[in-house]
Amino acid sequence: MTDLVHQSVLIVDDSPDIHQLVGVRLRSERLTLLHADNAAEGLRLARSEQPDLILLDLDMPDVDGMTLCRQLKDEHELSDIPVIFLTGTMDVQTKVLAFELGAVDYVTKPFDAVELKARVRSALRTKRYHDLLTTKAQIDALTGLWNRGYLNDRLAVEMSVLERKGLPVAVAMVDIDHFKPINDTYGHPFGDAVIQRIAEVLGNMSRDSDIVCRYGGEEFAIILRDTPSAGAMLVAERMRKAVETLQLTSGQTPVPLTVSIGIAGSDQVYDAGTDAGEYLLKAADQALYRAKKAGRNRVEG
Ligand code: GH3
Ligand code: MG
Ligand code: MG
Repeated sequence: MTDLVHQSVLIVDDSPDIHQLVGVRLRSERLTLLHADNAAEGLRLARSEQPDLILLDLDMPDVDGMTLCRQLKDEHELSDIPVIFLTGTMDVQTKVLAFELGAVDYVTKPFDAVELKARVRSALRTKRYHDLLTTKAQIDALTGLWNRGYLNDRLAVEMSVLERKGLPVAVAMVDIDHFKPINDTYGHPFGDAVIQRIAEVLGNMSRDSDIVCRYGGEEFAIILRDTPSAGAMLVAERMRKAVETLQLTSGQTPVPLTVSIGIAGSDQVYDAGTDAGEYLLKAADQALYRAKKAGRNRVEG
């Protein structure tokens, strides 16, 4: 997901003149421009920079624009990036094919400055709405944390980054202890408030780079990026303590709260042969189960 305010545009064209021209024409827009002069470089930049729009030349030596567009649409991480074709004259068949391939628009060269700007703006506006909706669908309504769907997507991405860069990833599974009696005694709305309060604590105690999710009812999962198991244990212990020291009350009655936490780190449990993310999540869940069995209000790795 990209920054919703500041957007970026990737221009893929073999002609240096076009890069310069587009640069001049879009200079007044608040955009980051990225440049590639062939399809392979375009694909590489699309993967690494996740631009919000690609202006793609139809005619390029080696790999042409249609082929690159097909590659982009076939790749899950890139398929949502809108593509505008930059073309000379285009016959109807080619236009139809371009739209079938998933292009949102085309601009014919030599392009008019006002027209180019209008088409770029329109595509970026739609992309912004799209990103906003996607983000909303991935957020848990009660807590404002990421939801389980997002966690699963994200874990897969993090595991592939881990493989590429050799960075450790840890997962923490957090479950509220004896939550059912809290609900039963003080009522469901109070139970909801407890979940919100604990979500807040977990959010506050984690780093910006951590991904904090509501995994289910009273369960949370946290992806700790670039964190070895030992570091994750320390973070989890701080979180456990922070919950324990919360002073929640219902009316005048103090309501003590604790959580149990299970940790799994890729530096200890890692199986590249299977779905690595799922494997890590399962290991964290098993550690959580051990923490529950060992008496709750504790961290197990
Ligand atoms: P343990 O220490 O073993 O985790 O015991 P527990 O009572 O926390 O575990 P259990 O899984 O038996 O109970 C979880 C309860 O959480 C049951 C369910 O009614 C409640 N719950 C699940 N989702 C929500 C929710 O969104 N709001 C509220 N208020 N309660 C929820
Ligand atoms: Mg539970
Ligand atoms: Mg529980």
